[in-house]
Amino acid sequence: MTHEAAVLRARDIAGRVLAPSAGQNDKAGRFSIEAVDSLGKAGLLGLMLPVELGGSGLGPRTLAPVTAILAEADASVAMVYLMHILGAATIMRARPTAAPTVTPILQEIAAGRHLSTLAFSEAGSRSHFWTPMSRAHRNGSGVRITAKKSWVTSAGHAQSYVVSALAPEGKGPTDSTLYVLPAETRGLSVAGPWDGLGLRANASAPIALDNCEVPSHFQLTEDGAGFQAMLNVVLPLFNLGTAAVALGLCRAAVAGTASHLKSAKFEHLGQSLGESLPTLRAQLAAMQIDTDGLSARIDDLIEHFEKPRETTMLRVLETKAAAGDIAIAVTSAAMRICGGAAFSKHMSIERLFRDAHAGAVMAPTGDVLREFIAKLLLGMPLF
Ligand SMILES: Cc1cc2nc3c(=O)[nH]c(=O)nc-3n(C[C@H](O)[C@H](O)[C@H](O)COP(=O)(O)OP(=O)(O)OC[C@H]3O[C@@H](n4cnc5c(N)ncnc54)[C@H](O)[C@@H]3O)c2cc1C
Repeated sequence: MTHEAAVLRARDIAGRVLAPSAGQNDKAGRFSIEAVDSLGKAGLLGLMLPVELGGSGLGPRTLAPVTAILAEADASVAMVYLMHILGAATIMRARPTAAPTVTPILQEIAAGRHLSTLAFSEAGSRSHFWTPMSRAHRNGSGVRITAKKSWVTSAGHAQSYVVSALAPEGKGPTDSTLYVLPAETRGLSVAGPWDGLGLRANASAPIALDNCEVPSHFQLTEDGAGFQAMLNVVLPLFNLGTAAVALGLCRAAVAGTASHLKSAKFEHLGQSLGESLPTLRAQLAAMQIDTDGLSARIDDLIEHFEKPRETTMLRVLETKAAAGDIAIAVTSAAMRICGGAAFSKHMSIERLFRDAHAGAVMAPTGDVLREFIAKLLLGMPLF
């Protein structure tokens, strides 16, 4: 599949499958199985997997627009997609001894029949996902893991979970190891409901691991190398992807607001809202400027991925921090401009506003990113 074909397929699914049911799924907190099925059939679940395994071998330059297009129609599905891509990317980079386990999983992903996700955050260390409280314990050649994973996107719907735990002999708080656990692993269960303010249709429920037996070929990283995988594989793509979700939300907010300003009328004045009120036009323009600014940031980050340089990590951190703030600002402006109509849920703006608040609290949170950025500037250690 080419870049252009991937973007076209995402657009088709967004218009045909996501947009018609986004409102209902949000209201009901319903995970869209149809969306995942369509993404699988379109070959988009294997977007970044190597061609030899049946994937499309595409990179961040395609991931960003595909994710943004999905988010413009339904940010819940876009986040499900992003967490899957991150799970797949981590599984793909597994150590060679995991090949008997990961090769069939990757082939299933490429065939569109397997959804993965990340289970990093824990109840004890909260948003500091790089310091798991759980520890893997030796069990023959494998390990046993007991953990409380506090939020896991696609919980109960994914076929596999990429799980972190402190390495059995790990000495420091970040000496973690990553494992892949099939959904049917004994002791793995969804430990509660998901009823969030936003992204209500992405099943980000807690997962409990109760003495789960994990054979050695389900171990993705070397002992203690989980932290490096989080930093080098997951963080850059996650920050790019959440920025793309934010961009999709901003674009939807601009489009929804413009449409409202054209269609809502002051009948006593014989004018639309947009014709009548320059203040609303100015606010709409500010939304558009912020949205295009975010788009430029995302392009800049992709260029940094393609030609890594000294500023790449800074851009990784900045892009998600900025995206979280921009999505909240743009959707808040949309709420204000669209007035009582938005507040009364007559339009999708309030869903965008709620969904936009997830990006900044998903780890690394906006606050943590600002901490990291300042520490980088001051030459201080990040962890
Ligand atoms: C919709 C959704 C989906 C999610 N999906 C997943 C998933 O698939 N997998 C997964 O592993 N996790 C997932 N998470 C969890 C997410 O990544 C965070 O771990 C979680 O949102 C943190 O919430 P908390 O209440 O524990 O934050 P806390 O850690 O309690 O933070 C509270 C506040 O303190 C601030 N803060 C924390 N540390 C610092 C610091 N060092 N400096 C300055 N400020 C700080 C935070 O920014 C925040 O404002 C998801 C979360 C949401 C909301």
